[in-house]
Order: sequence, then structure tokens, then C-alpha cells
Amino acid sequence: MRPPSGQEFTGIKQTLREHDLNTVCEEANCPNLGECWSGRGSDGGGTATFMLMGHKCTRNCGFCDVDTGGGEPLDPDEPANVASAIAEIGLDYVVLTSVDRDDLEGQGADHFAQTIREIKKRHPGILVEVLIPDFQGEEQLVQKIIDAEPDVIAHNVETVERLQRPVRDPRAGYEQSLGVLEQVKRESDIYTKTSLMLGLGEYDHEVYQALSDLRETDVDIVTLGQYLQPSRTHLDVEEYVHPSKFETWRQVAEDELSFLYCASGAMVRSSYKAGELFVDAILR
Ligand code: SF4
Ligand code: SF4
Repeated sequence: MRPPSGQEFTGIKQTLREHDLNTVCEEANCPNLGECWSGRGSDGGGTATFMLMGHKCTRNCGFCDVDTGGGEPLDPDEPANVASAIAEIGLDYVVLTSVDRDDLEGQGADHFAQTIREIKKRHPGILVEVLIPDFQGEEQLVQKIIDAEPDVIAHNVETVERLQRPVRDPRAGYEQSLGVLEQVKRESDIYTKTSLMLGLGEYDHEVYQALSDLRETDVDIVTLGQYLQPSRTHLDVEEYVHPSKFETWRQVAEDELSFLYCASGAMVRSSYKAGELFVDAILR
């Protein structure tokens, strides 16, 4: 991957700092940053994933490079600041995610929903994808996100069922995550999406089972990417998955299991080319 550089990258970074905003692209040291931030708008590319509610997460997942912490108050201006930054950067597809805020009353669900509403109010026609926490499986909190009517609700199962415990924080879980995705479909027509990392020691039959479980839960979109170790204190990479295997999983997901689309490749992340792939798929 080419390191991020150039005027566009510097401009986006400046806009984010001016509005005191965080992105998961930077906080998680995403390897796609140079590519995702290098183009924007309806010509494809140009995705930035805003990370709401601070840059410290109350959870500590073994694969994730986001700092652990919590306790910071929410910035009441954040919803308006995100909406302003979107206009300045010129995005027509926006991805919002957040750290988990188990420390807050309501776990920040109202703040997340308010940000979606603010964006939709100020940019009618914009497509909004949200990658949400599990809200500890509390349905009334998930419902607040559904009621704000984003276009895509993503929630990541991250890995196969057997590896949930070593990979994710103990407060997360396979069934709980499937429950979040199931609720969205039960309560709305909003597209659902999830991601799995490969290379953590999972077996093929477990990946197949996870994909089948997700499809049974009526999940529309799945992404598969290679786990990369952010530092030596994070989980080891057990395997570098061959590109042909990523392609096989894409075919299984799309042709056999009938997901709306599957993005699958070493560098694919949940929000990788999210806008262009989603628009292509629904126009197909
Ligand atoms: Fe940001 Fe997602 Fe692109 Fe990574 S893949 S740089 S997190 S938009
Ligand atoms: Fe990272 Fe886990 Fe927190 Fe998500 S919940 S930001 S994956 S530590």
C-alpha cells in the first residue's frame, strides 16, 4: 500500500482537525488510508470513516489498535461538526462508527442517532452507513439507531464463533452480535452488513458456518479481510490467507449464499470502498 500523501490527504486531515473530529482510518492505523482518502465524490473512492464519541474505547479487543479508556464527556457539537465536515470534504457516502461507550448511560446511542439525523437533515440525498456497537444487546438502544434511518447498518461479528473470546472483548459475543443484526431486519428495511477477519486461526468450515449463520440472519452484505497485527502486543497473525482463497469466499458468499455483495481481499476492511460497492450492488 502506498503511504498517504498529497494535497487531498492534507486537506481532509486539516478539515477533521478544525472540527475536532476523529476517524477510525487514523485511530486504527488502517492500511487503506492513502487509497480511501485519495479520491472522493461520485467518481468512486473517497471514503472516510468518522469515529464518534471520542478516541478511547471502554473495551479492549485483542486485534484492535484503538486506545482503551473512557470517561470522557461526549462533545455535544460533534453531530453538527460531522455534518459540516462532510460538506467541506465533499462526501456523498459517509460511514460513521464509534468507540464503545459502556461507561455512559444509554451507551451513547442517542448521540449516534442524533449525528445520523443531523447529517440527513443538512445533506438530503446523502447515503449514510453506520457501523454500530452491540449496545450490550439492549434492543431499545439499537432501536434508536434504526429510528434515525441510516441507509446501511453494519455490526461486525469480527471472527468465527469459536474465536470470539480470544479475539473480542469479553463483553462482546457471537450470538449477541447476530441478535443486533437480526433486530435491524426485523424492525426495518435497512440494509445490514458485517465483517469477518481471516488469519486468526479459523478453519474453513467455521468460516462457512459463520457466513451461513449471517445469511440466515438475513444479513445483506459481508466483507472479509486479512487480520494484520497492529503491534507486537496484539494477537498474532496465524495465517496470511492466499488471494485465491479470498476470491473463493467471495464466490461462496455471492453465488451460493446470495449475499447482496461480498468484498473479500487481504486489504478489505468494513468500510473499504463502501460507497461505490454499495451503489453498484443496489443498481445491479
Ligand atoms: Fe478508513 Fe475504512 Fe478506508 Fe480504512 S478502509 S481508510 S477505515 S474508510
Ligand atoms: Fe476496537 Fe473492540 Fe473498541 Fe471496537 S469495541 S473500537 S474493535 S476495542
